[in-house]
Amino acid sequence: MGIFDKPRLKRSPRHNDNLPDDLWTKCPDCGDLIHTLDLKQNDLVCTCLL
Ligand SMILES: [Zn+2]
Repeated sequence: MGIFDKPRLKRSPRHNDNLPDDLWTKCPDCGDLIHTLDLKQNDLVCTCLL
């Protein structure tokens, strides 16, 4: 664990009617929708935070 721990994305408890919750996660920082597989590759951090 580093000193500068990046904020982690959490799944929204709300269900999105248009997009399945388990595939897409909305970044709380930039508001972009990121695919879960992309998130996992980025250590669950949106590319806007990299
Ligand atoms: Zn973002």
